[in-house]
This record gives sequence, structure tokens and C-alpha cells, in this order.
Amino acid sequence: MSTGNLTINLKGIAANWAALNALSADTVQTGAVVKADGYGLDSGPIVRALYHAGARQFFVAAAEEASAIRRELGDSVSINIFSGHMRGDTEMIHDLHLTPMLNSFNQLTRHLEALPGHSFGIQLDTGMNRLGMEPSEWEAVRDTVVPLKPNLLMSHLACADDPAHPMNRQQLDLFKTMTDGLGLKRSLSATGGVFLGPDYHFDITRPGIGLYGGAPFSEANHVVHLSLPVIQIRDLTAGETVGYGNSWTAKVPSRIATVASGYADGLIRAMSNQGNLWADKTSCPIAGRVSMDMIGVDITLLDHDPESLDILSPYQTIDDLADMAGTIGYEILTSLGMRYARRYVSQ
Ligand SMILES: *Cc1c(COP(=O)(O)O)cnc(C)c1O
Repeated sequence: MSTGNLTINLKGIAANWAALNALSADTVQTGAVVKADGYGLDSGPIVRALYHAGARQFFVAAAEEASAIRRELGDSVSINIFSGHMRGDTEMIHDLHLTPMLNSFNQLTRHLEALPGHSFGIQLDTGMNRLGMEPSEWEAVRDTVVPLKPNLLMSHLACADDPAHPMNRQQLDLFKTMTDGLGLKRSLSATGGVFLGPDYHFDITRPGIGLYGGAPFSEANHVVHLSLPVIQIRDLTAGETVGYGNSWTAKVPSRIATVASGYADGLIRAMSNQGNLWADKTSCPIAGRVSMDMIGVDITLLDHDPESLDILSPYQTIDDLADMAGTIGYEILTSLGMRYARRYVSQ
């Protein structure tokens, strides 16, 4: 086997969902965000595991992403689309029974004209300025829309990973002003918002990254393990260099392992001379630049020649690796390449 082995622990994902679910009241439904093919981990097996854990409300970014979920779970779950009702989506929204979260007056008109009577929700902008109707836009259509019974009103927090940020309260207050007393279901919180407490939970929560073991869910099960096979090991004398650009120089006689994975597999070039790989509990620094399909690793301190080295494991989580590369766990996950042999385990 010459490609990396990516193991995804479905039981851990289900347990993360259950733990996030337990943080809100029984009356609050916990949804699951599985956009970008389940944060790059393959939404098929993930939604099956989440369904068994009790999830019935799924969210994706684009209508196209819903077909894998319908294929797995049939019509037993709701699937909402963050990007709303885009031009060309009508047939999919109809045939796959999707609920678009309408973002603008334009989308509202398109939806009501194309699919009158079909379910929809409304996304409201409370300050992030990414998607959703502005307060003035909502005010203009609210009295027309509310009697049509949108099945969800939602907004998204910009700073929920920082509980002390004043933006959280500001968005909460505006969301309430825009939606109080309408008698409709509401949703404000992704993973970060779940930890801001019951004021932020409303009727449905929308955790994504926490399901997959990422911050800010600090107690999460770590659900991805990525092990990279060693192709070759060599000895260097002091002064020899490793990789493109000679960016790493042996200070002492060193032993270098070349592992099979690189930036084409999502291990970004910013990890050059930064991250570590692990031989079980022992860390071994990346030596030199990450290339397209290979990474050099300094294994001088190991007492054996490893057949493989881990880059994601219980000792180095997606957030540990992200910190070393100047990015976030979300980007590490969604970049994991298609060359890895993927294995889904349920224990
Ligand atoms: C991605 C996303 C989520 C999930 O966010 P996490 O931080 O991954 O929990 C929820 N709501 C919206 C609108 C999103 O775009």
C-alpha cells in the first residue's frame, strides 16, 4: 500500500452529535451540518451514523449535496440548503424534497413562483454580511411571508468561537428583534453557539465542525486518523539538506524518512518545516518543504525504522496540525485528498 490510510471513526462522530445534543434542552432539536461532503469525510456513511444517533435535520451548502443524503436515508429526514433557491435548482429542490433557506427577495420570488406550496425557510442577516435578508428587506416582506409558514428562520453567528465577543450578544438581540412573536421555528447556533448557552439555542442547532472533532468543541472525540507509509529512509551527514530549496539542513548526523503524501493530498505547503509526524507517541519534525506527493521527516531520535508515521492521531488533532500550519481544523479536514485509502470504522 503506497498511499496514506485515512480512518474515520463513525462511532466517534455519532458520540459527538449526542454530546452536543445533550448540551441543549430536550425541546431543542440538534441538526447536523454535512456540507462539503461531510467536511470532506464522505457524507454517506456519516449521515447514516448520525441518523442512528438520532439526527433528523441535515444542512448542506448546495442543493447538489443533498442527493447523497437522500440516497442514504430516503425521505425520513429534512434537508435544508444554506444557499437557498438558486437559478437552476428548482427541479432538484422539488424532486429531492429539499428546503431552501431563502436569502433574498429575489430568491423568495423565484421560489414562490416556481414551487408554490413547497417548503422553505428564510435566512436572515444579523451582521455577518454573508447570506440572508437584511433587517429592512425582512421587514418589507415579513407580513407576506409569515402566513406562508416558512419552516425555519435562521441566522449565523460571526464570532461564536469567541464566547466573550460582543458580536454574539449583538447578533442575538437583532435576531430576536427580527423573529420574536412570529410563532415560527428558529435557529441561530452552529457548534460555537451551542456552547454560548440556552439563549442561543432556539428550536434547532446546526453543529458542523464539532461533529468531526474540531474546536471549539474541546471535549470532542477525535475521529480522524491519518497514517502515511514510509517510502524510503536515509542517513545524512551534518550539513546535508532535504527537499526543494534546501530549506532544512542537518545540524548533526540525521536519519530522514520520506513519507507518501503531500500538498496534492491536502497536507498544505505551509506545513513545511512546521508540523510533526508521529511514531505512536513520539513526535518527529517535518524536515524541508512539503512537496506534491512526499514529505521528509526527521526520525533521528527514533529507536526503530517505522513503516508508517501518523500525521493525525490522538497525539496530533486536526486543530494541532492546523495551528502549526496557520490554518483551522475545517480547512485540514476539507482538504484531505482522494488518494488516501479511506476506512470507516464503527467502534
Ligand atoms: C458551516 C455552517 C454551520 C456549521 O458550522 P460549524 O462551525 O462547523 O459548526 C452552521 N450554519 C451555517 C450557516 C454554516 O455555514
